[in-house]
Amino acid sequence: MDEAVRLLERLSTSYAPPGGEDTVASEVASFLEGYVKSLERDGLGNLIARTGRGGPRVMLAAHMDEVAMMVNWIDEEGYLSFIPVGGLDVRILIGQRVVVHGVKGPLEGCIGIKPPHITPQEEAKRVPEIRELHIDIGASSRAEAEEAGARIGSYATFPAHFARLVGLRVMGKAFDDRVGCVVEALVTRAAAMEELGVELYSVFTVQEEVGLRGATTAVNSVNPEYAIVLEGSVAADTPGVPEQSRVTRLGKGAAVRIMDSTMITKRGFYELLVRAAERAGAAWQPQIVLGSGTDAGRIHLHGRGVATGVVGVPCRYLHSPHLILDLRDLEAAYKLTLEALRLISEERRP
Ligand SMILES: [Zn+2]
Repeated sequence: MDEAVRLLERLSTSYAPPGGEDTVASEVASFLEGYVKSLERDGLGNLIARTGRGGPRVMLAAHMDEVAMMVNWIDEEGYLSFIPVGGLDVRILIGQRVVVHGVKGPLEGCIGIKPPHITPQEEAKRVPEIRELHIDIGASSRAEAEEAGARIGSYATFPAHFARLVGLRVMGKAFDDRVGCVVEALVTRAAAMEELGVELYSVFTVQEEVGLRGATTAVNSVNPEYAIVLEGSVAADTPGVPEQSRVTRLGKGAAVRIMDSTMITKRGFYELLVRAAERAGAAWQPQIVLGSGTDAGRIHLHGRGVATGVVGVPCRYLHSPHLILDLRDLEAAYKLTLEALRLISEERRP
């Protein structure tokens, strides 16, 4: 478990906005180097690790990118306007510290708004649009901002942090989907050491947050019979959320997706994942998520259809700077996924 926590810290404190995933890709590659048969990047930037000794072709997928922002204007006074890259809720942006990834290195800054002292009451009640916000890096002119390295097209992300909380919980940025990358990296290494009877393609995808783009090309090169997508998935077990809307809860095990807005899991495959959980002694919980999807949405529609499942580690506060997860759920997702690979190699066709 200590190793998993260290890897989670390393990956989640790396920066990888959609389209800029190189740092996470090289961290994952150096973790897997020496264990897998091959490691390559495809034309879009997906990292694909191959292992296994024959048998059904299985694809694992976890996305490397995180929700981010991009500078789209620098004004005369040195303020940076930005657009979201991925699904960002304007309410969590206000007042945040951000890191602007300039051409000369990272720049600290924040998303500030007018103080209450000078804000009319009516305006204070209204939620602003993202285009009304700005990033302040301290520059007092466009020239100074550019001299510091800020450009139109510079990415901005939430700053890196990682903390152990009470009990077995940890807090950090980008657990969606660095926790999936951790589970996938650990499963891949274990499968390689066990020489499991599957042809395993572990894909670390790019640009999921802007519309499942990496998965769309990766599935073409892998052409799998089975796929398991590993996600930091939604937990809504917080005050004010009614019992039936709480979806999945922290500490109650890996989330096995039944349905979301991009896929209905083939029943036979869902049952295989549940059997895997039970055989591995891994806690699990069923999950139905309306209004969002995963890379599985593209993968399962490939070719003549791919039996695809989603195994999630529940995370609170998705797409915010501070996510919280329970390490027991991470361990359960790892055990479940590894066991599912063993079952696939034994049963071939669920
Ligand atoms: Zn995700």
